[in-house]
Amino acid sequence: MGSSAYDVIVVGARVAGAATAMLMARAGLRVLLLDRARFPSDAVSSHQVQVPGVALLEQWGVLAPLLAAGTPPAHRAEFDLDGVLLAADFPSLGTVGAVCSPRRYLLDAALVEAARAAGAEVREGFTVTGLQRSGGRVVGVVGHGRSGAAAREDAALVVGADGKHSTVAALVGARSYRTRSPQTFASYAYWSGVDLGGTARLYTRPGLAAAAFPTNDGLSVVFLSQPRQGFEQYRRDVRAGLAAAASRAGDLGERLRGARIVERIRTTPDLPHRLTTPCGPGWALAGDAAAVMDPVTAQGITHALRDADRLARAVIGAGHDRDRLAAALRSAWRDRDRALRGVFDGTARLAALAPLNRAQRALLSVVADDPDRAAAFVAAFTGTAPWQDSMTPWGAVRGIGATGLIRAAGHLRDPGPPRVGGPRRRAS
Ligand SMILES: Cc1cc2nc3c(=O)[nH]c(=O)nc-3n(C[C@H](O)[C@H](O)[C@H](O)COP(=O)(O)OP(=O)(O)OC[C@H]3O[C@@H](n4cnc5c(N)ncnc54)[C@H](O)[C@@H]3O)c2cc1C
Repeated sequence: MGSSAYDVIVVGARVAGAATAMLMARAGLRVLLLDRARFPSDAVSSHQVQVPGVALLEQWGVLAPLLAAGTPPAHRAEFDLDGVLLAADFPSLGTVGAVCSPRRYLLDAALVEAARAAGAEVREGFTVTGLQRSGGRVVGVVGHGRSGAAAREDAALVVGADGKHSTVAALVGARSYRTRSPQTFASYAYWSGVDLGGTARLYTRPGLAAAAFPTNDGLSVVFLSQPRQGFEQYRRDVRAGLAAAASRAGDLGERLRGARIVERIRTTPDLPHRLTTPCGPGWALAGDAAAVMDPVTAQGITHALRDADRLARAVIGAGHDRDRLAAALRSAWRDRDRALRGVFDGTARLAALAPLNRAQRALLSVVADDPDRAAAFVAAFTGTAPWQDSMTPWGAVRGIGATGLIRAAGHLRDPGPPRVGGPRRRAS
């Protein structure tokens, strides 16, 4: 891409950065991938990967080692939305018809290994502290390894995949927009001895969202999202807070009875929600650095993988021409905002953890009772269909049509007992 030592320097080597480096190195670009962390290592994040994310991992050849490491797929989703029970199998994308929840120390390390195998130079334990500039462009990074010795590296493009507190974004002064104040805090734990039936289970109650997914080593990860104003009280006794929240979440408390928490419970109120301008002269951003969402809908990893894919295509397609690169990055930005709009706004709405109103409950009940609509709901949630198709009241109204509306009006008059909708569980 030019006379620099590298075509691309990627700062941050987890889902967004390692995937970006891997794809660019596979296309023959000279890539330097830097992270202050070492791998394998964990991240403060639960790790439900939605169907499109799993499909990308499969396409890139990274799913096989994760499955070989015992990452269990979940083929079915069961929602308990404030008492409305909705269930469907996850939709298929190519040969992938499941979500997965690989531990981050496996997922991130598998991507770093794939980047290395593709020819990227990987430097772990390296912290980026500054950028090099020339004529208004970013032309490299400044930083240091564990020894503290300063180092400079040049590249035609610097990619900041360095997470929600991105140093690169701060150094280039990238503007954020659609910023929402954090609404929730998150807390998650690993449990042994929980039978989830190979199913991803999601629960909402006023002031609470919970999710339980099977993960590696026969464990289940249970994630809780609660209003941020309750954080100080929760942190005084996290175990008691966790048990109290789980007992409010449908059958989750029952499923956890007799089960045991392993590892420490992770709790964080550091949950920004914003989009950021992802490109400028000589720089680009990917993953959380570019768009971060409240984790209540578990979309961040899948977004990061898609973002890496989008960014790599733009850069590879532009070749060595700076103007073409700038145009390709702007076009990728527009695509990203189009793709994220529904889920970004929808996630902010869900993060309010508000109770269902009567109309929403009636609509959801009709959706839950209709296997096709329940499947469409799960498809929109996991991202194989646009969010706005089923996850908004208008999307639901369009989906259920006039007959559904009449049934919803019936539910409004007589809500009746909760019902389980959607197709039957698979035989295998
Ligand atoms: C509690 C919680 C639960 C979540 N649950 C889910 C879930 O179930 N499913 C889901 O899809 N998403 C979830 N997310 C979101 C998900 O964690 C993020 O969207 C995802 O990690 C973003 O990946 P990334 O590669 O962009 O950034 P990160 O994973 O944050 O990686 C950034 C990397 O950059 C490195 N770095 C930072 N600064 C520098 C520097 N100056 N120099 C060198 N290296 C640097 C860091 O060491 C880090 O390794 C959750 C988030 C939280 C907080």
